[in-house]
Amino acid sequence: MIIVMKPTAGQAEIDHVVEKVEAVGCKTTLLEGTNRKVIAVIGDKRDIPPEYWDTIPGVEKAVPILTPYKLASREVKKSDTEIKINDQVLGGKKIGVIAGPCAVESQDQINFIAEGVKKAGAIALRGGAFKPRTSPYSFQGLKEEGLEYLARAREATGLAIVTEILSPEHIDLVSSYVDVLQIGTRNMANFLLLEAVGKCNKPVILKRGMSATLDEFLLAGEYILSHGNPNVILCERGIRTFETHTRFTLSLSIVPHLKLLTHLPVIVDPSHGTGVRELVAPMSRGAIAVGADGLILEVHKDPEKSFVDGPQALTIESFEKLMKESGAVAESIGREI
Ligand code: PEP
Ligand code: MN
Repeated sequence: MIIVMKPTAGQAEIDHVVEKVEAVGCKTTLLEGTNRKVIAVIGDKRDIPPEYWDTIPGVEKAVPILTPYKLASREVKKSDTEIKINDQVLGGKKIGVIAGPCAVESQDQINFIAEGVKKAGAIALRGGAFKPRTSPYSFQGLKEEGLEYLARAREATGLAIVTEILSPEHIDLVSSYVDVLQIGTRNMANFLLLEAVGKCNKPVILKRGMSATLDEFLLAGEYILSHGNPNVILCERGIRTFETHTRFTLSLSIVPHLKLLTHLPVIVDPSHGTGVRELVAPMSRGAIAVGADGLILEVHKDPEKSFVDGPQALTIESFEKLMKESGAVAESIGREI
């Protein structure tokens, strides 16, 4: 259930509603819309009729929510959620592009790429320091040293830093260096990790599990929201199908479907979604055309020498071209890049 407050409702009235809700054993989360505040009630109280809540001072109406994801649902919050990433915003008119290497390899490598993607218009720098690899013998990332390199690249360029977090134990360490935490496809259903990032105050990019349905994806986002972190960005990054011409099957139709069901920003990762460098630019344009709020892309100085995911990495030059071409698509739907 959600309790929609009147536009005139003050803090005392909100506190009073929260007290009443907690008195019946439910938890609350406050959502701040542009005109009014909404209190999401977590806990099943179908035995109490909505009219009970309607009569409390300051309440406009109580609305039962049918979807299993309450906080993520558009039923609760109609307007798009805009998420601040340092001095940039994701989820507004501007399509936010996050770019960088799959993995941080050295200070020179990350600085060179950071400068290149910044010049081309990226709003943030990505780079893995802890890498979730299929094989235990593959490069696992530079770990804390990689985080230090990322922080120095931020100092040099001003770009916000996005990196993947693998375990709840790393929350304090990773958060002390970076601006946005990424949960990878292999961890979308790692509920302890979702809870841990839900309790921290950094924006989170949640990647869709490679075999997750739309509902499972939104419920994973709900885990983060319900632990108190409202800054969740959903990322479609491709799913496993019978098809082998691409690394994964990039399910672009989930973008407009998510946008119907949730107020959270949705971004697309055509690098992992295709695994094929030549397909990244066309699928980026497609992602923008179907309503994505942003892209996350792998870019490398010399893709052939990339420690990880070279075949899908763009050069700086091809990234610049992609940004220009994507700008035209963005403009055609009233957005910018
Ligand atoms: C990545 O972004 O480098 C990554 C490992 O992504 P995913 O979790 O989507 O495979
Ligand atoms: Mn990668």
